[in-house]
Amino acid sequence: MEPKPQVETPPFAVTCLECGTVDYESKGWKAYLSEERTLLVYCTECAEREFGD
Ligand SMILES: [Zn+2]
Repeated sequence: MEPKPQVETPPFAVTCLECGTVDYESKGWKAYLSEERTLLVYCTECAEREFGD
């Protein structure tokens, strides 16, 4: 039997709540805790647009 190819799995991926962009590094992304204690994740662009700098 041949060994299965190894797929590199990132620690975790984050998805932008606004535009749906998926990123594995999420540098500059912002996460907010909603009142329902849900983590709201925004990419850099959306975070700037939504919350200003
Ligand atoms: Zn976004």
